Amino acid sequence: MHGFTEETRALGEEILRYAAERLALDPVPLDGTTTVEALDAVAAGAINAKGRGGIDALRLFEEHLALACLSTDHPRYLSFIPCAPTREAAMFDLVVGASSIYAGSWLEGAGAVYAENQALRWIADLAGLPETAGGSFVQGGTIGNLSALVTARATARERAAEGVRPYRIAATVGAHSSIATACRVMDAEQVSVPVNDRLQLTGDNLRAVLEEHGPETFFAVVATSGSTNFGVIDELDSIAEVCEEFGIWFHVDGAYGGAGLAAPSVRGKYTGVERCDSFIVDPHKWLFAPFDCCALLYREPSLARVAHTQHASYLDVLTDAPDWNPTDYSVGLTRRARGLPFWFSLVANGTDAYTEAIEQTLEITRFAEQEVTRREYLEVVREADLSVLVFRRRGWEPADYHAWSDGLLAREEGFVVPTSHDGETLARFAIVNPRTTREDILALLDSMA
Ligand SMILES: *Cc1c(COP(=O)(O)O)cnc(C)c1O
Repeated sequence: MHGFTEETRALGEEILRYAAERLALDPVPLDGTTTVEALDAVAAGAINAKGRGGIDALRLFEEHLALACLSTDHPRYLSFIPCAPTREAAMFDLVVGASSIYAGSWLEGAGAVYAENQALRWIADLAGLPETAGGSFVQGGTIGNLSALVTARATARERAAEGVRPYRIAATVGAHSSIATACRVMDAEQVSVPVNDRLQLTGDNLRAVLEEHGPETFFAVVATSGSTNFGVIDELDSIAEVCEEFGIWFHVDGAYGGAGLAAPSVRGKYTGVERCDSFIVDPHKWLFAPFDCCALLYREPSLARVAHTQHASYLDVLTDAPDWNPTDYSVGLTRRARGLPFWFSLVANGTDAYTEAIEQTLEITRFAEQEVTRREYLEVVREADLSVLVFRRRGWEPADYHAWSDGLLAREEGFVVPTSHDGETLARFAIVNPRTTREDILALLDSMA
């Protein structure tokens, strides 16, 4: 099965045909979800001893399995955080797959690592981080946050006075669930900081919490630059001030919202991000890269190397070299060159196209906000900072929101699941797809009348 035959060539053509046709679809079908029983009926026993051939395997995927997966790039997929890759990024993912690149080390993947670092540099420049900043692309924001926090703790413990072992993280309740996950993995404690009336973490509230619990017990503060539920950007500047005052690591989670750094209309909201010790943004969210891709950046990458480099006799040839090995900056060893599709698209399209595409989604969000405000039966819950809009349908019980959402999906008209805040079920649009139009928004809002 490692040979290249006429049959392999034919399969290659089929695979490329399938991929090209999927990328050309406009609109893409939303497709739907299904049950194990339904898939058993068509795909049970797909793996057998003799194999059924690539063409047959592709057909199984194309005709059955793919239809049971939602298209996250559908213009009315507005749940969670969607993923709308550029055509260039999606296509280049095929190239990465075909290239057998090990991108954990410079020795093995210099060309890929160089290119990934260029893409990281673009993000570091947007954030205003120094020339010496660096990191790597990891699987997602969860691993990015965990890796940054592991580095924060190692650094804090190294610097702490004798007998002091910082074990706490300060964050708001609006911080992403992956922060709580990181705490569980690390056996650390998350202390919640109250938010202001705009749902933001502020320096003043942070200082009060640090003083109450003892600042020396904290190894990191996590601010969010674009919370997942509301798109709230914390008061980064005043938080940075307090972190500097107490000498605590300042991590900014921009997994979703970090992309807004490239949009002039909202850039001012991020003031202070340049003072962070670590920063993440998921290009698979609002920077139009395919899953899965998180950019993880450190102000001082050497601190991450101390925390993360794996040492073993069989790795000495890599770890003894002075090279930039992406694997040294995060949890994990083997890595796909997952930043390459993003890099390719940046090179191909230019960064202005990114700014335009992000601004376009912000404009659609502002339009949606106006339309919600205009309609008697709807009400904005919190003015949108970025491209997430949370609103209320007056008179609806939780069951009404769910029935509306289920109906949209069943008719393949949209995927818009409800969220909740302070115990109240609410509607939420997360708009990161430049193909989401005003007509899409109007149709969804009309369906709630
Ligand atoms: C999505 C998200 C994460 C987690 O990222 P994954 O890529 O899903 O692991 C972390 N923080 C924020 C703010 C997010 O929106």
